[in-house]
Amino acid sequence: MKLGLYPLSALLRCKSGRCYRLWLRISDRLSGVQSVSKSWMKSTVYIETLGCQMNVADSERAATSLRRAGYDLTLSPESADVVLVNTCSVRERAEQKVYKRIRQLRSLSTKKPVIGVMGCVAQLEGQAILAKAPDVDMIIGTRATDRISILIERLKDGEEAVIDLEERAEGESWDVSPVERHSPFVAFVPIIEGCNKFCSFCIVPYSRGREKSRTATEIVDEVKQLRELGYKEVHLIGQNVNSYRPRSEEGLEKSRGATPFCRLLRALAETGMERIKFTTSFPRDFHPDIVAAIEEYSNLCDWVHLPVQSGSDRILKSMRRGHLVEDYFRRVDAIKNSKRRLSLTSDIIVGFPGETEEDFQATMKLIERCQYDGLFIFKYSSRPGTPASKLVDDVPESEKKKRFLELESRQFDLQSSIYQGYIGRAVSVLVEGRSARSEEDLTGHSTCHKVVNFKGDPTQQGEILNVRITEAKSYSLYGQQVNRDGTRGVPMRTPAGDA
Ligand code: SF4
Repeated sequence: MKLGLYPLSALLRCKSGRCYRLWLRISDRLSGVQSVSKSWMKSTVYIETLGCQMNVADSERAATSLRRAGYDLTLSPESADVVLVNTCSVRERAEQKVYKRIRQLRSLSTKKPVIGVMGCVAQLEGQAILAKAPDVDMIIGTRATDRISILIERLKDGEEAVIDLEERAEGESWDVSPVERHSPFVAFVPIIEGCNKFCSFCIVPYSRGREKSRTATEIVDEVKQLRELGYKEVHLIGQNVNSYRPRSEEGLEKSRGATPFCRLLRALAETGMERIKFTTSFPRDFHPDIVAAIEEYSNLCDWVHLPVQSGSDRILKSMRRGHLVEDYFRRVDAIKNSKRRLSLTSDIIVGFPGETEEDFQATMKLIERCQYDGLFIFKYSSRPGTPASKLVDDVPESEKKKRFLELESRQFDLQSSIYQGYIGRAVSVLVEGRSARSEEDLTGHSTCHKVVNFKGDPTQQGEILNVRITEAKSYSLYGQQVNRDGTRGVPMRTPAGDA
């Protein structure tokens, strides 16, 4: 696939690396557009996405269905007729930012656009949003992404404000047009949505509902189609991908595996998609057969994200995680003892209610044992509506900060020595674009999900290259292209592409 056939949407990550802002680019190339009434045919929609990969995937779906209904997508909130903000509610502060952003977006425009709130805040707050932000016209719940055009039609017919917090329609297709994908090389493929775990600090089970798995047939077909379109990597996404449990095993009959997720991994590996990553895994549902599947298929990537949250059993119980530290270590041992060297990353919350210095030191010990390749650390903040919000938030802010910095500093040292260990090794990198730091450099991710920068030609975007690591930075690697036999790789080309 040549770069430029599919418009590349701009996808930026926030500092923590976990949130995305996505602007979907206008394209008039999509065929098969169904028509709506003429007065709305040329309406343009701007979608701004906050939050996690699931929100990015939802925005891609919403854009696909809007364009099919005859709308154009625009990058410009100033000129859009409809402005949609796909929201995140994982922290209370993120929710407050939504209202600020809505006011900003409204003031940018001279034409008084229709304003819609999508996603988790919409699902949780519902009608209450109208009291906090009277400018809002549409409230679109997490399962209403395919019905936005119907809501716009209702406004057009004279309704003042419209709300859809209903479930997805039975048999709803999860179709996403390549035009709307955030990258022409990497595609997010949701396999399960919602969560049944009810960790005491988390709002997701309330905003995203109960776990609902897509059928294996549908997922396998989507991955095959993505491969035919030239995608090189898919990320299977879901709050807990390894809790995947479809209603029927249709599509998995020929695949071995201890759990439906393991069978799905093998079925997807058989499609020949070059790289398959998956996130996030829930510790309690992490079966060692996942590691066995990764060992069997080289296209199942060597990276596992397994959030632990705390190294103290007392705190894990209070968090209602459903596992103890020893259970977690058993999963980690299976990962670390793999024949392949698997990269392991995690999430940790410091300063959870009741966390003593002893509990915190147990977490410090845990990271020594787990030797994470990367760690997302969060200071606890009470999220209204969760069971933990009823606990006394008794760890002072200064103490939370101190623990955060101590953990971060130790993780930095551990991670640095892991990154140093890559020097001299060759890794396989999917070239995703130019480096933001240097005009001459390209950037991409390794199969173990590390950012790798190296000198290269922009025409190599979308290729999978071997890169020998020459330098380890704090959160990325730097290297040089090599051929598969280890000799120095492709020379720099001129912008015209001649060698
Ligand atoms: S597993 Fe726990 S932390 Fe993760 S989404 Fe579900 S409730 Fe939230």
